[in-house]
Amino acid sequence: MASNHPENMPMFEKVLIANRGEIACRIARTCRQLGIRTVAVYSEADANAMHVTACDEAWLLGPAPARESYLNIERILEIARRSGAQAIHPGYGFLAENADFARACEQAGVVFIGPPAAAIEAMGSKSAAKAIMAEAGVPLVPGYHGEEQSVEFLAAVAEEIGYPVLLKASAGGGGKGMRRVDRPADFADALVSAKREAAAAFGDDRVLIEKYLLRPRHVEMQVFADRHGNVVHLFERDCSVQRRHQKVIEEAPAPGLAAATRQRMGAAAIAAARAIGYVGAGTVEFIMDAEGGFYFMEMNTRLQVEHPVTEMITGLDLVAWQLEVAAGRPLPLAQEELAMRGHAFEARIYAEDPQRDFLPAIGTIRSLHMPEPGPHVRIDTGVRSGDEISMHYDPMIAKLIVWGEDRDQALLRLRQALAACSITGTTTNVEFLARVASHPAFAAGAVDTHFIDTYRDELLPPPQPATDAVLATAALHQLLAIQQQAAARARASNDPWSPWHDCTGFRLNGSSWHSLEFRDGERELIVIAHFRPGSFLLELPGGTVAASAHPQPDGRLRVVLEERQFDAWVQRDGQQLTIQLDGHRHQLLLADLDAATLLEDEPADGGLHAPMPGVVRAVLVEPGQKVEEGDALLVLEAMKMEYTIRAPSAGVIARIDFAVGDQVSEGAELLALAPLES
Ligand code: ADP
Ligand code: ADP
Ligand code: MG
Repeated sequence: MASNHPENMPMFEKVLIANRGEIACRIARTCRQLGIRTVAVYSEADANAMHVTACDEAWLLGPAPARESYLNIERILEIARRSGAQAIHPGYGFLAENADFARACEQAGVVFIGPPAAAIEAMGSKSAAKAIMAEAGVPLVPGYHGEEQSVEFLAAVAEEIGYPVLLKASAGGGGKGMRRVDRPADFADALVSAKREAAAAFGDDRVLIEKYLLRPRHVEMQVFADRHGNVVHLFERDCSVQRRHQKVIEEAPAPGLAAATRQRMGAAAIAAARAIGYVGAGTVEFIMDAEGGFYFMEMNTRLQVEHPVTEMITGLDLVAWQLEVAAGRPLPLAQEELAMRGHAFEARIYAEDPQRDFLPAIGTIRSLHMPEPGPHVRIDTGVRSGDEISMHYDPMIAKLIVWGEDRDQALLRLRQALAACSITGTTTNVEFLARVASHPAFAAGAVDTHFIDTYRDELLPPPQPATDAVLATAALHQLLAIQQQAAARARASNDPWSPWHDCTGFRLNGSSWHSLEFRDGERELIVIAHFRPGSFLLELPGGTVAASAHPQPDGRLRVVLEERQFDAWVQRDGQQLTIQLDGHRHQLLLADLDAATLLEDEPADGGLHAPMPGVVRAVLVEPGQKVEEGDALLVLEAMKMEYTIRAPSAGVIARIDFAVGDQVSEGAELLALAPLES
């Protein structure tokens, strides 16, 4: 009977996604394409998160901390039961490599979309995994992964392996508990601190020792196995570009990898998967030396963050394959049917500060512009503008994935795509990624795990002074805003033709020019703008240029400076202007208080809001007082500058909500203005 064939095993009708962010959204997308209904789970912090709306239904897990929400096994299983989900996809992180969870799913009669619990356990300890791999004939980095943990013994082993050596937490992951030791004299201290970190992070202080390879590459193989004994590999990914031993840019295939090496590595990865009875998607990580020798590092028993580059070169949907396998069906393709085409890159966009050793950042995303997705560009994200990057979860904002016929073409697309990203509200690594993508050594494919350290000075240059193009863009943005506001006033007033609404400048200072003041770090910069029909003459530090600006539908500004045109992103946040040009970001402060005040968008209710967090320095009016348009009402101090709030129109002060000395948060309503009774 056909129904007995594995090909005909029924597909799930409803799947619970036990994760958040981009990976939850990405899994939901495939489910929707396959007609599978999805159940999202969310913490209190994520009630309005993108993954919640990406699914057909969503259930509250509990408070924000992961322990009380995304790691709460009992609650997740209860939701699976009550929602009628037949399977659970754990994504990556959280419960993805938790054997207890896999087992609990089985006991609850719900399918865990991942390997058997025993396979997770086998690879959960890096030491135990190495023992299994040695048995299976998979090459290992010279080292020690046994039970004996005394400092004397381990120091002697390190001596024998030869310095430098690397200590790793056996139970480790995410780079925690890892220490490079260069000299015997440092060994004891490094061991104590590695053990302390391992105990804190994993509740297990055992370590292993490896020879520390100098300038190696990280090359990993994607493997897939089904329940019918089929195991294939889906080629490799190079993830050498790392900071703090964690990946930042990944690519497939690995640049310059010889076909024979690929074949041997693929065979080793398949042997590794077979050795533990693997089922589903997994990644076997190898470290590769300059001679092409490769050694097993660890196996990640889940879908990897960087799986999209494999999807781009194979044209396959790995989540769809995971669902097939979990439903009991055989792998859709055999090894000989798998081929790779072209080249793909993934850049991980993080809320983090590259200038401060890539420290994770937090904040509310004020604006988020990504390149238009298409056949060659893919954006996987789980946040929108207005969303918060909180301290509770991973600070990844998006993954930007590009494909090209070859590496050079893919790299050009990567640079272009990065230049089209504009994110404000939190510090990000976008510009840093753009510098990596533009670096000649990266273009040459000369990557190794020390790439970022080697080129640190070039990749993280000190902020450069604003160029004339940056200044002109900032000035044009402000001038356009002034014109728009004048036009809006003219529309709202009785006499649209009044010269007082004219935007050619004499309303502002009685002449046909206007002066704009900016602060660039310590420098004060003044741009004089002369009004011309449809354009401006700008006096910039480097000379006077004819200039105009044209807002584009995607939010960019097309800037025309003499004979040159270019696109720029400009975002204003209180007094701060962020200008993004040619993939580089520049920040200027608006020092021109009147212009800044003038440009505040006034809400329709006549409320007046704080444009930035600050302290109230002066309250210049009283409730009931009549004011004229432009009258000073209140003075705020923020960022060491004074900022005057003025009346947007004539009216009566209805209410004042703050007194001198009060702290106000951004957006707070400071006072209310009622229209004059006519
Ligand atoms: P590797 O394990 O080799 O670093 P990946 O970079 O693909 O492989 O996966 C690690 C990712 O797993 C991290 O980037 C992080 O996003 C995710 N992750 C790990 N632990 C957690 C966790 N507790 N909560 C959320 N995400 C996690
Ligand atoms: P994690 O569980 O944190 O992913 P891994 O064992 O996969 O730990 O190692 C993470 C990274 O550390 C690797 O990608 C590589 O850059 C570096 N690394 C690991 N082992 C070695 C080694 N023996 N020599 C040099 N670098 C190494
Ligand atoms: Mg790893």
